Amino acid sequence: MSTHLSRRQFSKWAAIAGASAVVGFDPRNRSWVTVAQAQTHAFREIPKLDGELLLDEESRRAIATDQGNMFHRVPAAVLRPGSVQDIVAMVRYANQHKLKVAIRGNGHSRYGQTQAEAGVVLDLRSLNAVRVRTPRSADAQPGAFWSVVADATLPKGLTPRLFPGTCLKLITVGGTLNAGGIGLMTPHYGALVDNVTDLDVVTGDGRLVTCSPEHESELFEMVLAGQGQCGVIVRAGLPLMPAPTHVVHLELTYNDLDAYLADQLRLARDGRFDGQRGQMLRDQSGTWRFVIEVGKFFTPPDEPNIRALEADLRFASAAPLLRMTYRDYLFKLETRGGVPGPGRPCPIITMWIPASATRRYLDNVLSLSPEASGLTPFQGVEQFGCYPLNSRRFTRPLFKVPSEEQAFAIWLFRSVKPGDEAALSALLASNRELLAKMTAAGGKRYAPYSMVISPAEWQEHYGPQLWRRFSEAKRKYDPNHVLSPEPDIFGAAVRP
Ligand SMILES: Cc1cc2nc3c(=O)[nH]c(=O)nc-3n(C[C@H](O)[C@H](O)[C@H](O)COP(=O)(O)OP(=O)(O)OC[C@H]3O[C@@H](n4cnc5c(N)ncnc54)[C@H](O)[C@@H]3O)c2cc1C
Repeated sequence: MSTHLSRRQFSKWAAIAGASAVVGFDPRNRSWVTVAQAQTHAFREIPKLDGELLLDEESRRAIATDQGNMFHRVPAAVLRPGSVQDIVAMVRYANQHKLKVAIRGNGHSRYGQTQAEAGVVLDLRSLNAVRVRTPRSADAQPGAFWSVVADATLPKGLTPRLFPGTCLKLITVGGTLNAGGIGLMTPHYGALVDNVTDLDVVTGDGRLVTCSPEHESELFEMVLAGQGQCGVIVRAGLPLMPAPTHVVHLELTYNDLDAYLADQLRLARDGRFDGQRGQMLRDQSGTWRFVIEVGKFFTPPDEPNIRALEADLRFASAAPLLRMTYRDYLFKLETRGGVPGPGRPCPIITMWIPASATRRYLDNVLSLSPEASGLTPFQGVEQFGCYPLNSRRFTRPLFKVPSEEQAFAIWLFRSVKPGDEAALSALLASNRELLAKMTAAGGKRYAPYSMVISPAEWQEHYGPQLWRRFSEAKRKYDPNHVLSPEPDIFGAAVRP
């Protein structure tokens, strides 16, 4: 019910919170109401919160962008929740007043997925605790960076099966579980979403539900890699195992692309190493070299015989072996992963290509030299990630991978100078062409780096059956279409 502040209430509120503090929302004018305005404006009181609801321009503008620097949507408010109950209360309030709610980890997605024009952004970095529950499981809140998961588990001699491959201090548990998440141990364990035991989720209609493969399994499956469409993950159960103490790290360089791809696939298939990733690098003369980095876990003094493990591989040269702790290994790639300069638009694209199509597909990428295409540095591709995947390890329906047994993850870190609109258009056009060729080759896109695409293209991505299932889940768990206006996966199909 709408209300006004009486003169007495006004004095009390102004003394406690200040005249500019917000007391509610005016659904008729679709605006927030401050203490100062509340004597004359009718408003619906905001729920009592343990955290902060920020309405000042600076806080709203600060969160109106993401790492892509291409979309800027200013929300009406930013919630820094102090508890899970705050999220329940705000999602219910948004349902009552037709407010859109965007969910944000650290905003490392690139295409505006964490933004809501005139809506509320849940800035989940304030919920960031990690607790080891038993030697076999930990609970992580969504805003915890993966480095915090490492800090909570490694000193106890425990580890999740999988961490993201790079930048543990920059990406959050909630953000990666809504994207999918791959890492160095992916050939063994699949994606991060394959390594979750149970979740607490606040659904789009404001219910707090615990779900797992056994209980409320539909919600579990429609939230993991679900791009924030059906619910807000507020706790994730991560399975733990004993942590290795040390790692031998080996870097192998190839000049022959066919030998490189074949060895990548062989290593991923036979699993002789524990960690594996790849990179392709072009030097100033335009020559490409192809690198595989592998890690083998061990407990001193029992060091593995690396020479025997590499004997049948066809690399051209090998860097000296590095021995390091498991922790240093996880954090070794902290600065990699394409963190752009300040304000640089960076339309990264990432895709999974079926192994049999990769060699041909890569011709499209390796020929993208700046000189050949008239692009300036970084719009072409000087360095990109190339990880092998074993498709059967990916078990979550919304994390789509090619149907072939093996595939490659291709990460293109592309960016342009701030303000160079022509260069950005050229880059986006080039991305679209690469993605169209990827689809034609039977590939799949990685959600946070998949460009802005239409509901029809999302339908093609998921396939008609899964898209229908996902649409039904959206209707069931977020009936008022409150959560995550971006990406627009369903279009008019599910709008109330
Ligand atoms: C430097 C760098 C390194 C990276 N390394 C890897 C890597 O090794 N492996 C890998 O797979 N990916 C990697 N990524 C990609 C990463 O998975 C995505 O950027 C992802 O978006 C996570 O970032 P974030 O935590 O900032 O989440 P955000 O970008 O804030 O959110 C990602 C998506 O999840 C939604 N969301 C966030 N939290 C929740 C929640 N609690 N409940 C429901 N929905 C939520 C958001 O609305 C958004 O759609 C990397 C990215 C960068 C920038």
